[in-house]
Amino acid sequence: MLTAEQQQIQESVRDFAQKEIEPIAARLDNEGAEIPMPVIRKMAELGYFGLVFSPDHGGSGLDVLSMAIVAEELSRAWLSVGSVMTRMIITGSLLEANGTPEQQARLLPKICSGELLAAAAFTEPDAGSDAAGVKTRATKKGSRYELHGEKTWCTFANRAHVLTTTVRTDASAPKHKGMSILLVEKEPGDRFAPPKLSGSPIPTIGYKGMNSYSLAFDGYEVPAENLLGGVEGKGFYQLMSTYEIARVQTAARAVGVAQAALDAALRYAKERTQFDRPIAEFQVIRHKLAHMATELEAARQLTRHAARAKDLGKRCDLEAGMAKAFAAEMAERVTSEALQVFGGYGYSREFPVQRYWRDARVFRIFEGTSEIQYDVIAKRLLES
Ligand SMILES: Cc1cc2nc3c(=O)[nH]c(=O)nc-3n(C[C@H](O)[C@H](O)[C@H](O)COP(=O)(O)OP(=O)(O)OC[C@H]3O[C@@H](n4cnc5c(N)ncnc54)[C@H](O)[C@@H]3O)c2cc1C
Repeated sequence: MLTAEQQQIQESVRDFAQKEIEPIAARLDNEGAEIPMPVIRKMAELGYFGLVFSPDHGGSGLDVLSMAIVAEELSRAWLSVGSVMTRMIITGSLLEANGTPEQQARLLPKICSGELLAAAAFTEPDAGSDAAGVKTRATKKGSRYELHGEKTWCTFANRAHVLTTTVRTDASAPKHKGMSILLVEKEPGDRFAPPKLSGSPIPTIGYKGMNSYSLAFDGYEVPAENLLGGVEGKGFYQLMSTYEIARVQTAARAVGVAQAALDAALRYAKERTQFDRPIAEFQVIRHKLAHMATELEAARQLTRHAARAKDLGKRCDLEAGMAKAFAAEMAERVTSEALQVFGGYGYSREFPVQRYWRDARVFRIFEGTSEIQYDVIAKRLLES
């Protein structure tokens, strides 16, 4: 059960998503265009980027479950819109949990208000699941760090003012201990700052509306005061501190996309007639819809269970891992079955169901692959 406040949040986000996102999503996805900046500004005004952060830092101080509800409703309209806030949640959580008081005061209120947009630059060409395997070097030169190396899959990098970047600050330390996080400030825009910082978008099959970038640092300088927490060698542990909330948020996004696919399939099954009957009268279609709805609800409840555990201040890597892994796989199955309900029309760009299916495929890959989630779950199970 949701509280009255959570229900109110759900209704207001649903209203925003239905009025302002759904009408533009199909066209922009088909064009491969980015989410219009006024939509991002509106989300910022509505407070979606600072939901879970303390009012002392400019946030709304809401619970993680409310954040999951917002992510679900936005993603139900368009995954990419529900994914913009992920970036602010990751950087904001890193700052709130690990930043120095000066960094929190300087950056967090602007992250909450959307004045500073953030992107996460963790993945490298040779370091994906192995997040501690980063090779991008940050060398201290006086009061600045100089960066050399490559990042990949940095989504929203062009529009961001801050690239939250994992770097190697000590090549001689064991790999988990020689890593730090730098808050790399830059001007937003597609040009980046060549030759010291260049970026090129990666063509993708879905998840349009935001571009994911390969980035090359070649001497880009960052003030030393932007070292997260002010101490080198803590980056891996700082990064791990955000995994739980980011995985809950991702599970909620998967639930949102699957809900959109189920909604579409239910509508279509009642409208489409074959053999002189709506296809919703065929038992095989009815059972398909029932199975989709059951799996979807199970994923939603797992996600909310993980969110509630996080709200109680409990360690919830097990719950968040289960929610993320199950919701990701559920979203792939449910969107594929929804496409099947549409028959040939499902394969056409004219109906959004193919977008849900293309978008859903990414859930098993980002924010920790399914294989990594099952590793986390098994580790916890075998600990006791
Ligand atoms: C659309 C999109 C957007 C993204 N956005 C961002 C972003 O904004 N910022 C960012 O930093 N990254 C982002 N990523 C990167 C994403 O987080 C990585 O792709 C993911 O962590 C997996 O890393 P990898 O691609 O290098 O695969 P790899 O780690 O090379 O994995 C390849 C395969 O091996 C499996 N595998 C790896 N290690 C193990 C193991 N120990 N046990 C069992 N199986 C294993 C994996 O599960 C996978 O199936 C994005 C990716 C995509 C596709």
